[in-house]
Amino acid sequence: MNALNKATGGDSVPLRFRTLGGWIERPGDLQPELKGHARADVIVVGAGFAGLSTALELRARGAEVIVLEQEFAGFGASGRNAGYLLGSMGVECDMFVSRVGAEQAAQFVRFYDEAVPYVEGRLKTLGIDCDYNPSGVLRAGVHPSQEKRLRENMALGRKLGAMSRFVDGDEMRARGIPPAFLFASEQCGGTLNPGKYVSGLRREAIKAGVKLFERTPLLSFSEGPVITCKTAHGSATAPVMVLATNAYTPQLGVLHNKVAAIRVSAIETQPLSTEQLAALGWQGREGIITPHYTMESHRLTAHGTMVLTVKKLGYAYGSKTPNIPDQGAYKALAHVLRERYPALQGLGIQHCWSGYVSGAYDFLPVIGVMGAKQNIYYTTGCSGHGLGTQSLVGSLFAAQINGEAPELLAALQHKTPSLLPEPLQWCVVQSAFAAATLLDAWTDRKVRKYQAEKG
Ligand SMILES: Cc1cc2nc3c(=O)[nH]c(=O)nc-3n(C[C@H](O)[C@H](O)[C@H](O)COP(=O)(O)OP(=O)(O)OC[C@H]3O[C@@H](n4cnc5c(N)ncnc54)[C@H](O)[C@@H]3O)c2cc1C
Repeated sequence: MNALNKATGGDSVPLRFRTLGGWIERPGDLQPELKGHARADVIVVGAGFAGLSTALELRARGAEVIVLEQEFAGFGASGRNAGYLLGSMGVECDMFVSRVGAEQAAQFVRFYDEAVPYVEGRLKTLGIDCDYNPSGVLRAGVHPSQEKRLRENMALGRKLGAMSRFVDGDEMRARGIPPAFLFASEQCGGTLNPGKYVSGLRREAIKAGVKLFERTPLLSFSEGPVITCKTAHGSATAPVMVLATNAYTPQLGVLHNKVAAIRVSAIETQPLSTEQLAALGWQGREGIITPHYTMESHRLTAHGTMVLTVKKLGYAYGSKTPNIPDQGAYKALAHVLRERYPALQGLGIQHCWSGYVSGAYDFLPVIGVMGAKQNIYYTTGCSGHGLGTQSLVGSLFAAQINGEAPELLAALQHKTPSLLPEPLQWCVVQSAFAAATLLDAWTDRKVRKYQAEKG
């Protein structure tokens, strides 16, 4: 029996680490590598939500677009995430206010919240079926002591324009939310299958005439009125480039002093039996996140499994992004599964995976334009909440490149604090993660005591 199976109550299903995450396989119609020279109006680097959304929105405005993707579309966080389409509920509004003031923080809240209907609209317009369940998302406390902070964050969010409502214990029980979750704040949005979403964007981009080159890492680029991108067996030129490389951006030598690559992990259970589902309740299948310092996310999938993510974050020296297992994180998530769902003790974990998000010290998105000719756009730093925003940013970039000057894009401009050089950066990040783990462990000890007292 391996350690994870012990942690989940001892059933004997072997645990599989999936290098590509739980939702996606290498596509059967892998697009060709770039060989020789290609030319376009815009080169987009990276084919996740941000890159594909930008490419589609640019095509809709008549631009010729090349996308360079180092592996295949959806290889990054877009194909590995938990599939929550959520607005500003996932962010700590007080940090935004302390960094940029209330007025601009309200614009960031707007950015997160507008991203939800944007994606919902795109799913309809593009005809992407990705099992979207517009159930709403709950940020749910597991101990009474979390209510104060939750309510304060809600109140501040409302002042900044966010729509949310408090769900009390009686309503939680009436809705069949698993009993570990005591109360919540609720926002619109829901859960989807991110593999199907990103594959749908890929399919629509190819259909729309975007020239997608897969297995084509960008190796270097030259600045100027025309940008030249070098790849292993070719090159591409365009007057505009969009870097949609998220957590991998520092490895290009760009923004390496502004954003760090953070590893986020996930586990997926075996499918729940009809009896287990009935015992669980949770008829609305709302996506649930917790207000821990390092949050937990809990959701059911359309194929009858449960996916749990986060609880323990990772950082590799120098913002590297090794595609390797993080046993400590999977173990922590397995404990969460056992503790939050005592009725599901025998439920095994079928696989686990990790991916990378990018974060700035101030947790604000890092979106802008650079270069001597101001023709290199970049989007990164959406921390763990980029499904919506990294999709919406594609429409903002396309509008900007098309000369439409969207005011929301202008409103997001701010100064990102610089990161420390290594090895200081490594020490600071590890210390911050350790402190968050300690505080959360303290909360979880209180939860155990509280649950034992309740019987
Ligand atoms: C486990 C996990 C759970 C998460 N859960 C949620 C959630 O529930 N909700 C939510 O909103 N967010 C969630 N996130 C975050 C969300 O997935 C990301 O914010 C979002 O997918 C980022 O999209 P992107 O297009 O910017 O980046 P990515 O999807 O990472 O795409 C970047 C792409 O660039 C490519 N690339 C990198 N370097 C190069 C190069 N040199 N040349 C060519 N191509 C290159 C990569 O291969 C990759 O495909 C989660 C993330 C993880 C890892």
